[in-house]
Amino acid sequence: MSTIAEQLRRSGASRRDFLTFCGKLMVAAPAGLAITSFLSPEAVAATIGRARRPSVIWLHMQDCTGCTETLLRTSQPDLATLLFDVISLDYHETVMAASGYDAEHALADAMKENDGKYILVVEGSIPTGESGTYLKIAGRNGIDMLRDVAAHSAAVVAMGSCASWGGIPSSNINPTGATGVDSIIKSKPVVNLPGCPPNPYVLLATILEFAATGKPPKLDSLGRPKFAYDRVIHDHCPRRAHFDAGRFAKEFGDSGHRSGWCLYQLGCKGPVTHAPCSTRHFNEVVDCWPIGIGSPCVGCTEKDVAFTVPIFKTADIIHPVPPNTYPPIAAEHKGISPVATGVAGIVGGALIGAGLLASRNFPSKEE
Ligand code: SF4
Repeated sequence: MSTIAEQLRRSGASRRDFLTFCGKLMVAAPAGLAITSFLSPEAVAATIGRARRPSVIWLHMQDCTGCTETLLRTSQPDLATLLFDVISLDYHETVMAASGYDAEHALADAMKENDGKYILVVEGSIPTGESGTYLKIAGRNGIDMLRDVAAHSAAVVAMGSCASWGGIPSSNINPTGATGVDSIIKSKPVVNLPGCPPNPYVLLATILEFAATGKPPKLDSLGRPKFAYDRVIHDHCPRRAHFDAGRFAKEFGDSGHRSGWCLYQLGCKGPVTHAPCSTRHFNEVVDCWPIGIGSPCVGCTEKDVAFTVPIFKTADIIHPVPPNTYPPIAAEHKGISPVATGVAGIVGGALIGAGLLASRNFPSKEE
């Protein structure tokens, strides 16, 4: 298989687009990845360009296709460049032209050609109830299909909250026994990218890190890459200044809501939600993310928050008041008389003048 740079040259893809893409990756993964640990998109492009194009097989389980939609919304590079040049998306039921037996053959061929080397991306939860009968594709249930394709992969990425732990289909009463990939696959590294949907550049950064280094990114205790999920949304939220100042929207559409104030009292889960949404927006549009358009965060990347805690319920705040260590920007000057100020000025001036004279009289090092 060719390198990413060779494939881009062959297909005539523009270098400018590739550099823009690398710049996006640097924003999506500013720290914690080998491929983006450089200071310029050119250096990132050189590292990624040397990597073999990773073969990707994408399976759909119980899902709404929202995670595929987020991939379709990448425009730098556009979808065609992404699929055919940067990665080799060898099987994907939604975007592939083949259907029926041709699609089944495409999956078998992709597995055979890249045995042990491809990255398996799973979208959707896996229904385990009634021995997995709630999902059948080409005569096989989801559990069997996942086990088979994962067994021949190099690594597995659980794309979205459903694949990470069950997501919406697993909400109480979970009629299909929906669960996440890592509760079934134990023999391969599984990277969880929860989100409804997750950011597409976080997925691409994860896949390209694996292609370039042969290793998945560093993960937290829930299997999420630290480079993207190490902080809560609240830490970088553009409405944070309003939170700290106590300015809250109380109702949807009230003057606070229309003025862009903090959405905490409307049930925003940003203070307890680890996700990169507040710094990496969606659809290539600034402010295109829930809080950016006035909707409280529902905590979709947190297993015990999303689809469990009611949207209106407020999150627990770990540090309920801002720190009291801010500098005194409005210092009190009461009690110092003009006379005292004048005396202080004379004394201070004398000291500064003496210092200047002394410094003039000091011999230089050479002397
Ligand atoms: S509570 Fe929500 S809207 Fe308010 S600052 Fe935190 S993350 Fe932003």
